[in-house]
Amino acid sequence: MANQPPSSVDYPVSIESPKQGSQSATQAEAKFSPSAFMSPSGPRFAPPVIQPNNPNLSPLIRTPPLPSPANGVRTPSPSSYLSTPPAPPMFSSPLQPAAPPFRTSPATPQLVDFSSGSSLPTSSPPPPNSFSNGSVEVPYQIGDTTEDYLAESPNVMFSAHKVLKQKKLANIPSLGFGALFCPGREISSGPQIIERDPHRCQNCGAYANVYCNVLLGSGQWQCVICRNLNGSEGEYIAQSMQELRNFPELSSPLVDYIQTANKRPGFVPVSDSRVSAPVVLVIDDCLDEPHLQHIQGSLHAFVDSLPPTTRLGIVLYGRTVSVYDFSEELTASADVLPGEKSPSQESLRSLIYGSGIYLSPVHASLPVAHTIFSSLRPYTQKVPEASRDRCVGTAVEVALAIIQGPSAEMSRGVVKRPGGCSRIIVCAGGPNTYGPGSVPYSFSHPNYLHLEKTAMKWMDNLGHEAHRHNTIIDILSAGTCPLRVPVLQPLAQASGGVLISHDDFGEAFGVNLQRASTRAAGSHGLMEIRCSDNISVTQVIGPGEESQIDNSHETFKNDSALAIKVLSIEETQSFAISLEPRADIKSDFVHFQFAVQYANIYQADVSRVITVRLPTVDSVSSYLESVQDEVAAVLVAKRTLLRAKSSKDALDMRLAVDERIKDIANKLGSQMPKSKLYRFPKELSLFPELLFHLRQGPLLGSIIGHEDERSVLRNLFLNASFDLSLRMVAPRCLMHREGGTFEELPAYDLAMQSDAAVVLDHGTDVFIWLGSELSAQEGKSAAALAACRTLAEELSELRFPAPRILAFKEGSSQARYFVSRLIPAHRDPPYEQEARFPQLRTLTTEQRTKLKSSFIHFDDPSFCEWIRSLKVMPPEPS
Ligand SMILES: [Zn+2]
Repeated sequence: MANQPPSSVDYPVSIESPKQGSQSATQAEAKFSPSAFMSPSGPRFAPPVIQPNNPNLSPLIRTPPLPSPANGVRTPSPSSYLSTPPAPPMFSSPLQPAAPPFRTSPATPQLVDFSSGSSLPTSSPPPPNSFSNGSVEVPYQIGDTTEDYLAESPNVMFSAHKVLKQKKLANIPSLGFGALFCPGREISSGPQIIERDPHRCQNCGAYANVYCNVLLGSGQWQCVICRNLNGSEGEYIAQSMQELRNFPELSSPLVDYIQTANKRPGFVPVSDSRVSAPVVLVIDDCLDEPHLQHIQGSLHAFVDSLPPTTRLGIVLYGRTVSVYDFSEELTASADVLPGEKSPSQESLRSLIYGSGIYLSPVHASLPVAHTIFSSLRPYTQKVPEASRDRCVGTAVEVALAIIQGPSAEMSRGVVKRPGGCSRIIVCAGGPNTYGPGSVPYSFSHPNYLHLEKTAMKWMDNLGHEAHRHNTIIDILSAGTCPLRVPVLQPLAQASGGVLISHDDFGEAFGVNLQRASTRAAGSHGLMEIRCSDNISVTQVIGPGEESQIDNSHETFKNDSALAIKVLSIEETQSFAISLEPRADIKSDFVHFQFAVQYANIYQADVSRVITVRLPTVDSVSSYLESVQDEVAAVLVAKRTLLRAKSSKDALDMRLAVDERIKDIANKLGSQMPKSKLYRFPKELSLFPELLFHLRQGPLLGSIIGHEDERSVLRNLFLNASFDLSLRMVAPRCLMHREGGTFEELPAYDLAMQSDAAVVLDHGTDVFIWLGSELSAQEGKSAAALAACRTLAEELSELRFPAPRILAFKEGSSQARYFVSRLIPAHRDPPYEQEARFPQLRTLTTEQRTKLKSSFIHFDDPSFCEWIRSLKVMPPEPS
């Protein structure tokens, strides 16, 4: 097995930790009961009918990974992925309480049965002020009735709802196990809020939680991670279980501990720091006329959308950097700095301490801002777009300096902890070709590779510098000029921002400008993951960096948590976490605790703690039944994309997907009678289709023409929330129906029925396709198009980045965007088509003939053809 080295410092960040016992590929013959099908994918094909105008679209928008009819999933392919060299274990083994079992008097009727292996040690001294009257201590296991909490946490989604006890089975390379953690996702009901310090395990640092055993008499609680017995300073002393439920942390799997900032030294109350955090626009000054007109329109609309208290700054860059001064009320006037090198301290000081006003609240600066945008002029010299001098690096340095302002001087040596994040939004029409962090215009420059490397490093440093100053840098690019994404990506990534590309500076760009500035982001995030029973974290992919736990003020004897510095706490991002047991599991349950500490937008310190308990099982089929196809597919896709850096890598990764399918079928599928073929496990019936989409879609397939664009998508995907990630892997297909309703269909080309309109949501793109027969009827097609547009907007209302929304008619040249994202099934035999696309049954013979004849022949294999080519029988559809 070729072991992949841990690729820790990479964009996006991936943190891999050593895995034990390099390979377990050969294990685990699946013990399958090849029982009859139980229509696992029923709900998927039973089309929900959707009202596009219903504001409450949540059932449509959500793709719950919940107890869906889901099925199993595996991960890495047999050949290599995710195998890391054996190395020291991550977790120093927690104190296993071989200690005397829990003392109970025989007269303890309420004694709750502890789950196996969780006898309470008595080694910890009772807390000073607990009852120590020697009387009966009643343990109370709160978690007894809380098993179903998992499905309620939108912040943590596991690839399976059960864990295999046998390490050998659980660690089959193609059958990974893991979770998606979205720390910033808001919960509809709101979190349980606690305004005091948490009780944490003295041994390992884990938090007291809903699954803890509590001794009612002494108030002691047992840690679910290391089983240490801890005191609660008497707080948990209670007469009854009911009483303990008054503690939010003992009654809810998700709690937020909040420390309002007034306890913090140097705190200055701010009424709404979120709206007052400054936004600085850094705008490309090398745009041609059409691009300029677009961007002017978008910028005018953008400033009009800002809350009046937002402080705005405007910086323009080309060969020089112009910083606009808002003190001139009626004209656009700017201070100009050279772009070829970083601004000197002196020039920055004279700028900051000068008479100009470079950051001004929108209520005061709005007319000036409009004047400035109107005064922008198109590029006039005859230099090709890609060769124009653009000093992005210097411009961002200047923007950072004006955000910090004079206070940067005063706060030197003082720990400054402002709440909320400042934002720099770079509006770029081309690469950084001038000054620090730049690359030559031409790839044929003899020293290009070296200069590129230097530029990436410089940008990475600048991104980190911005992060230290609590500033997020987003880069919104547009146009066809290659951006040289590998150079600019580190700037956005290291600061906690994103890089997004657009066709032009028009509608989607304008929407993203607004969403970039308003999305809430916590700062100074630190995430910790703790697992019980020797389960270790083997890889983390997401918007963060590995971190050492800061033990300066709190000490836990055996804190074995994996700690990740989270760059920005946002609803739209998540972490993909791979988990592996390092030994056979003996307990009936395993526990996972995710904690993230951050400063929220109102300057309060939040510690969000989510505890999950999963039952363990011996049986592989019972495990497979608990697998969440969609979560598992997203985890696999993230691991795959991490290795798909270049287009050549992407090609290799397509083959890796094939290998994965084969391995899962061979290890977990059922052998066909009188044949060497295996059928893909029925519990995972959705999974191979999702991977087929991954393989042919924009992330790995050949849909995307330019490498820059694929690189942007890849980085976005690796950090994206579950919902967006899933949509980026597999599109969602909704057919317009009479009366403005929509029917959800599998994303097959069979949906292209001439009398229909179809919406295809592929995450970063939403397409509206109008059949030729429908578009011939003017009134009808206008109504259908309007309904589809409304749906497209509602589907992506909360999405960041906002997708490009395109509409086109059947047979138009743009329609290929649409076809290439659907599973080609028109050549499959009718019985197979009907099985996978049951809506066909509702068509008349005439309609079916017409549909059949509408397809232009092309060679792409259908899903069934593809999976058979791997010598695997497709899972039976419902
Ligand atoms: Zn502990």
